[in-house]
Amino acid sequence: MKQLEDKHICRYCMGCGAEELDTFIPKMNCSNFVPAYSDWQERYYKALKEK
Ligand SMILES: [Zn+2]
Repeated sequence: MKQLEDKHICRYCMGCGAEELDTFIPKMNCSNFVPAYSDWQERYYKALKEK
């Protein structure tokens, strides 16, 4: 799961199984987003700002 970076929303998502799929292609937007953390927005926007 090397491709999945902090700037990808699926880093904070449990809806598309990104954690389990080796072939997962990261997206900047997720159609079936399920938050993996209660503070995911905070983490995500912080990661975006750092890039
Ligand atoms: Zn996702």
